[in-house]
Amino acid sequence: MNDPRSTAVALAEPGTEAGTAAAPATGRPDRVRAAVSLPEVATEVRYLDPAGALGAVGWLRVESSAVCGTDVSLYQAGLDWPTVMGHHVVGRITALDPDRARAWSVAVGDLVALEEYLPCQRPDCPECSVPGRYRMCPESDLWKGRRRVGLISAEEGSGLYGGNAEYMQLNANSILHKLPSDLDPDLASWTQPFANAVDWTINAGGAREGSTVVVIGPGYHGIAAVAAARAVGAKRIIAIGRSAERLEIAETLGAEPVVNADGTDLGALINAATGGHGTDLILDTVGLGKAVSSAASGTLRKLGRLVLAGLGPVPVTEVDFKALIRGANTITGVRGRSPEAVRQSIELLASGASGLELVPATHVPLEEVGDMLARLANGNGPASPHVVIRPQP
Ligand SMILES: [Zn+2]
Ligand SMILES: [Zn+2]
Repeated sequence: MNDPRSTAVALAEPGTEAGTAAAPATGRPDRVRAAVSLPEVATEVRYLDPAGALGAVGWLRVESSAVCGTDVSLYQAGLDWPTVMGHHVVGRITALDPDRARAWSVAVGDLVALEEYLPCQRPDCPECSVPGRYRMCPESDLWKGRRRVGLISAEEGSGLYGGNAEYMQLNANSILHKLPSDLDPDLASWTQPFANAVDWTINAGGAREGSTVVVIGPGYHGIAAVAAARAVGAKRIIAIGRSAERLEIAETLGAEPVVNADGTDLGALINAATGGHGTDLILDTVGLGKAVSSAASGTLRKLGRLVLAGLGPVPVTEVDFKALIRGANTITGVRGRSPEAVRQSIELLASGASGLELVPATHVPLEEVGDMLARLANGNGPASPHVVIRPQP
């Protein structure tokens, strides 16, 4: 059962209707409209055939597919093959192998959030063999095996492995989380990005009630990190960035905005903002390298943490180890999120405590995916970072 291609499929017969949009009575769609992104940095809508699926254990009717910075950089760098992108997927299950339904405790009709990982799940895998570490599986690594939602070739099997399509297939090694059925669609589409922010800010960053938190970069994850810090009752949240528009959104969520348009010394900005009291956490979502490591040496409080989440152009830098030891500080790199963080994210979204309903969403139909990716790649995207592909017509 570990090789998805050898998985027995016990699905209902496909429907006979030729249309694509109507949900087929049998759960598996007949043909599916998908935005296929091409290596030549273009995207076109194509019809893909689910009948060619390899190892599908079920089908998901995609409700939303949120675009993040990773999509934009992968697209801009030139994809290896035609791809149905989209890796922050929320959808409703329309067909599912009964064994998987039992194993995942979900049923046809459930609303679920899908993680991008497709881990090998082999007992001899150093990561998959440890509970909760599947996201580190080399087979699913962004820089190694690349078996991930939104990254597999559109020419393999059904090609429907990403969220930028009306439907996508579920595999035996898909990782999904059940959502409350009535969760607002714009909030539901925050599940994965907000889970990242929760993991980086609360779990790795240690933000809690009364903390002072500095978030660098009010982009998608920066805004979500402000929301996470607010949700745990941080006393002060300082958002530093270049875009006044994005900082305004951070401000709506309770952050104090600090515009750094001219590259002023970060440490000086943090000192000014905190009145010299320093901060318990600096979360760098940009990847500023030296600027942020020297700012941390001068502004982190005792036991404070510097969390590095951005792969910017200058990530290599010297670190002041003496300052690190004297402050009993922690520097940590973060990637993706733990399964616990997804559960935390869902709870906060469902309880209304995230505040993320305050962030405007831009909805993108499949026909406009290419234009939107081009805009984002040119730094020309909407003011709000919450860009959500809604594939259903
Ligand atoms: Zn992402
Ligand atoms: Zn593995």
